[in-house]
Amino acid sequence: MSITLSKLAMNIGDSPTLKINSKARALKAAGEPVVHLGGGEPTYPAPQAAVEAIIKKAQTRKIKYTPSSGTPELKAAVLDYTEKYYGRRYEPSQVIISAGAKQALFNFLLAAVEPGDEVVFPSPYWVSYPEMVRMAGGKPVMVRGSGTGLEVGAGDILKAVTPKTKVILINSPCNPSGQIYSEEFIKQVVEFAEKQNIFLVMDDIYHQLVFDGKKTPNPCAYAKEAKNLVIINGVSKLYGMTGLRIGWAVSVHKELIAAMGRIQSQSTSCNGDLSEVGAAAALKGDQSCVQDLCRILQENRDVLLQEAAKIPYVRVEKPAGTFYSFMDFSHYNADSNALAQYLLEKALVAVVPGVSFGAEGYLRISYCADKDSIIEGMRRIRWALDKNAPKEIKIGDKLLTRD
Ligand code: PMP
Ligand code: GLU
Repeated sequence: MSITLSKLAMNIGDSPTLKINSKARALKAAGEPVVHLGGGEPTYPAPQAAVEAIIKKAQTRKIKYTPSSGTPELKAAVLDYTEKYYGRRYEPSQVIISAGAKQALFNFLLAAVEPGDEVVFPSPYWVSYPEMVRMAGGKPVMVRGSGTGLEVGAGDILKAVTPKTKVILINSPCNPSGQIYSEEFIKQVVEFAEKQNIFLVMDDIYHQLVFDGKKTPNPCAYAKEAKNLVIINGVSKLYGMTGLRIGWAVSVHKELIAAMGRIQSQSTSCNGDLSEVGAAAALKGDQSCVQDLCRILQENRDVLLQEAAKIPYVRVEKPAGTFYSFMDFSHYNADSNALAQYLLEKALVAVVPGVSFGAEGYLRISYCADKDSIIEGMRRIRWALDKNAPKEIKIGDKLLTRD
């Protein structure tokens, strides 16, 4: 008999988004003409300033441990960034740098959540929230909107709060729907959390990736003391540097940040030396790359919506930000896992099943790839779902056959 593993290990699922990335990568490596519309990383190259700073640092041949919660240089760059976009000056003891926004959030949950504490967030939600909350011993409370669509109102969130609620977690704009929560929503949630003494975590990883001149509401505008507000962000999406693994959390609550620091110092020790240098350079450098990225993503979104409109019965709300769209394919198959699997097998198109985000019948389709891939991917999906289309199509020298 083999040694048993921990309950935590046995109960934790794989990240479905990362799984689809590796599946698509493996198919590509095997020479399959797969179109990857499942991914969560912009193909945009890293800012030149970041690359140069990393090379310069590497050439010193001093690649050492860094201060556990982040170098003073990177902390200063994050605090300047926060002041610029949130209008609030935080201190170095109020920020922690981590291995991505993901680890910042995980550290927060470990520092804040006691067994049985509830963490409330809107559904659909980012795939990792429920699992991270469970790993921290908490109970994820996913809140569906009370209306017919996917929209979740502030009232829906506040109604879900119980005496056990420790945290409200908001991701705006939202992965997977691309929707931005309104000023009124943010105001209500911020004021409520402050009054009720509940942590409010804003996962702002996409807050600058917004379209059509829209803006993501600033939670600091409504927080008087902001003592329970935690803002999470990072360089992954903003600068297309997912591989750097740098994110952060900022909060007035110094004891919280210190506790997150203790957890980090006893687990990962610190962040990568080169990564911190690269992230600081990107934050301090020319920001026109962010505008360029938004322009490209907005164009991509429009191409995707145009292609989606050619598939009968597919419904989608126009994303206001991110690089994701959440499309209702329930007419074709209410089982989104089965549908995503079918599309991967038959059409060689990778998408993420909606059920992983808490909404069956939907597929998350990314538009951070290039326009040609978006058009080709959507053309193949249309073909695979159209019973009147030819049974076979040729992609290069590969023959695709649908059911
Ligand atoms: N939050 C959301 C909503 C995300 O989609 C992601 C995806 N990467 C993250 C956090 C984590 O980002 P990272 O760890 O790469 O900074
Ligand atoms: N956040 C990205 C996504 O939703 C991928 C990385 C991850 O899941 O950690 O696809």
